[in-house]
Amino acid sequence: MRDQGLLITSVSLPTRELLRTPGWVNVNTMNRTPSTPAEAFQTLLEGNQRFVESTRLHPHQDADRRASLAPGQTPFAVLFGCSDSRLAAEIIFDRGLGDLFVVRTAGQVTGSEVLGSIEYGVGVLGTPLVVVLGHDSCGAVVAARQAVIEGTNPPGYLRDIVERVTPSVLAARSSGSNEVDDIVDVHIQRTSELLLERSSLLADEVAAGRCAIAGLSYRLADGTVRLVASHGPLQRTAA
Ligand SMILES: [Zn+2]
Repeated sequence: MRDQGLLITSVSLPTRELLRTPGWVNVNTMNRTPSTPAEAFQTLLEGNQRFVESTRLHPHQDADRRASLAPGQTPFAVLFGCSDSRLAAEIIFDRGLGDLFVVRTAGQVTGSEVLGSIEYGVGVLGTPLVVVLGHDSCGAVVAARQAVIEGTNPPGYLRDIVERVTPSVLAARSSGSNEVDDIVDVHIQRTSELLLERSSLLADEVAAGRCAIAGLSYRLADGTVRLVASHGPLQRTAA
């Protein structure tokens, strides 16, 4: 078990509750780049809440920001999420240019290119947070569930996607659920653990407290996120 540095276990908290939790509040993160996992996570939660409430500020989307970033980038989060068109990263977290290093595949399935991209974000750019972002009614999860039930496989490279989601379908089944949204949560949790297992760079950064992983489940209808997996120091320590 790789649970060193784990501050939250068995979590399933929506944005609003997370922002009310002691240690998550009173941070003005709008105008400076978050440098710790907890600050980065707080900044994303605040942006998501603005998105949910239709009070977006559209930060870092102007010409000055564009020009200031030309020499180099220091994004504060790696966002590894499903490619679903309704999951547009900078929109749902109300961020802009240079804020998020985004890696997306259908069903947020993990392969060597994904791992290399995440390692670039964390190891080279020094990003303190990795978000694994899944969502309800995910088509890749629906397809994998169907493949398990019917014993069939889709054609072409779709098969690669389905095969990488299938272990999450089976894990959810062994826990007693065959519901798509339960499988989504299991898949987010398994994917977060898989990143730590496959990437020693990421595991070392998380163990040292310089990086954390937040597994978030997004609801398409209302735009909220719910924390379903956590590794590393996501929560601010008492000031
Ligand atoms: Zn999806």
